[in-house]
Amino acid sequence: MPQLKPYSHYNDLYDKFTIENCRKIISDTIKHEESRDQPWERKFRSNVYELYVSFEVVDRALNKNKVIEKRMKSDKEKDDFISSTKIPKLKCNFCSKQMDLDDTSFMSWVWDEKDRLLFIFQCNDCNKRRAIYNDWEEIIPKKHLCPNCNTELNKKSDIKNDTLTINYFCDKCSYKESEIVDLKVENIEEKEDNNYEEDRKRFCISEEETYKLKNWIHDFYEWIYEVINWTDPVSIAKRKEQEKFRPLENIKRFTITELEEYLSPILTEKWFINFSLWKAEIDKEIHVYFTVIDKSDKNQKHSSRIRLRKIINEAISNTNWFFMNSWKLEEKLWIIQWRLKWVDNNDELLKLIEK
Ligand SMILES: [Zn+2]
Ligand SMILES: [Zn+2]
Repeated sequence: MPQLKPYSHYNDLYDKFTIENCRKIISDTIKHEESRDQPWERKFRSNVYELYVSFEVVDRALNKNKVIEKRMKSDKEKDDFISSTKIPKLKCNFCSKQMDLDDTSFMSWVWDEKDRLLFIFQCNDCNKRRAIYNDWEEIIPKKHLCPNCNTELNKKSDIKNDTLTINYFCDKCSYKESEIVDLKVENIEEKEDNNYEEDRKRFCISEEETYKLKNWIHDFYEWIYEVINWTDPVSIAKRKEQEKFRPLENIKRFTITELEEYLSPILTEKWFINFSLWKAEIDKEIHVYFTVIDKSDKNQKHSSRIRLRKIINEAISNTNWFFMNSWKLEEKLWIIQWRLKWVDNNDELLKLIEK
C-alpha cells in the first residue's frame, strides 16, 4: 500500500486536528469556568476563550501548508525507500525450498533513517514462516517447549465463531495445551458529529481570513494594553506630584524650639555655647536670629565663623532650615550673631535641597 496519499487526505486530517484542538480549548475553558464561584470570573472567561481559540485558529491556518507539504514529502520518501529496496530471496529452514513473500510491512510511523522494511516469507510445502528485515536481521520467535520433555511443541489453529483456538501438543509425550483468542471486533460506532462541517468552517479558515483575524487580535491586544495602562488624569497628576517631592520625604521639619534643642548639644560639643534663637521675622519665609558664644581657644578664633558655619551647615543639611546668604554675621568679642531661615514651601525646599 503506497504511503503517499492525495492532498485531500492530509487536508482532512489536518482540519480534523484543528477542530479537535479548538473544541478542547472551549470545553476546557468552560469546565474551568464552572469551577469558579464568582459570576464576574465566569463572564470574563467566556469572552476570553474566543481569544484563545483565535490564537489556535490563526496558528493552525498559518502552519497548514508547511505541515502538509512536510508530511507528503515524508510519505513520498517512504514510497521511494520501499520501491528501491530489493526483496530478499529466502530458503525454508526445514525443507530448504524457496519461500514465497507473504507480506511486507513498513516499520515506522514517522519517517527517519532507522525505518526498516519487514518481509514475511512462507514455505508452501511445510507452512513454516520466516520474518526478515531489509538489513537481513531476522526475527527468531522463541521456541514453545514442552514442560515435560523439553521438545518443541507442535500447534494447530482453528477459527470458529470469531474465536481462534490454538492447540499445542507434544509429539513425544501426551502433553497438550490450548490458547483461546477472542477475535470479535468491538463494534465502535462513530458518533455522528452534526457540528463538524459548521466547526470546520469556523476553525479552519483561509489565508485571507487569517489576516483579518490577526488584525482583530492585534486590535484586541492594543485595547488590553490601553486598559491596563489607563489611569485618570487626577491619579496621574497625584503620582507625578508624589514622584517630584520624593526627595523631601526624608527632610526633618523642625520648629524653632525643636531646632534649638537639636543644635545646642551639637555646638556645645565643638565649644560654641549658649546657642539661642530669638527674634523671628515673618515674611514669605521665617527668618530667625541666633547668637552663640565661641569658647574655643584664642588661636582658633580667627577661623571661628568658618568652623561655625560648617558645623551648623552639616547639622541642618537634612532639615528645612538654611543659612541666610544675604545676611552677614556680626561678631563682637566672643559673641557671634547670624541668621537662619525656615522654609516650608515644598517647591522652594526642593530648589534649595537640589543646590
Ligand atoms: Zn519448508
Ligand atoms: Zn513432551
